[in-house]
Amino acid sequence: MAEPTFSLCVYCGSRSGENPLFVQAAQAVGHWIGQSGGQLVYGGGRNGLMGTVADATQAAGGRVVGIIPQALEDTEHARHACDELHIVQTMHERKAMMAERSDAFIALPGGIGTFEEIFEVWTWRQLGYHDKPLGLLNVAGYYDGLLAFLQTSVANDFMGQWQMGLLEIGTDAPALLRALVQGAGTPVVQAPLRTVI
Ligand code: AMP
Repeated sequence: MAEPTFSLCVYCGSRSGENPLFVQAAQAVGHWIGQSGGQLVYGGGRNGLMGTVADATQAAGGRVVGIIPQALEDTEHARHACDELHIVQTMHERKAMMAERSDAFIALPGGIGTFEEIFEVWTWRQLGYHDKPLGLLNVAGYYDGLLAFLQTSVANDFMGQWQMGLLEIGTDAPALLRALVQGAGTPVVQAPLRTVI
């Protein structure tokens, strides 16, 4: 397998959610990474959208790096089919390694683990701990309520519009992925073959 052209960190649910569009979006993201000659960096589980995006990446010829804390190896069903599977000691170690190994970050629909992870790299970005692009894929309006609340925070002057601007928001997976990867200064080798959402 050729050296990956970029590494993209995907945060998403350890469940699949109710709407089939969530699974389709995870498939589209994995497919795009694989078709573009990229590498997925993710939490290393087989469950939910996490497993879906990993399966789709490898099915499209991409490389998958999974990073999972030892304590979650059973409950999150560590995915031993990853090209690299790192079993680490702590959640902090997992998140730091995921961040270090990635050129950009994207969150898909998910639960509190997903929220926490994208918010963490967002806060790190605003503080200047890294300068990597980050984005939110708003599938089927899943994040509408959160985005409205974030604007409430801006309106109340607890955050600035410039901070909102650090998080790229999109509804079209290939368009958002391309923007994030190109923003990281890494060329997209191959055009996406399909748009699912
Ligand atoms: P969820 O979105 O809640 O389904 O969780 C998605 C992923 O986030 C899972 O791999 C969780 O292990 C991970 N996760 C859950 N809580 C945290 C946390 N506090 N910090 C980092 N990752 C978490």
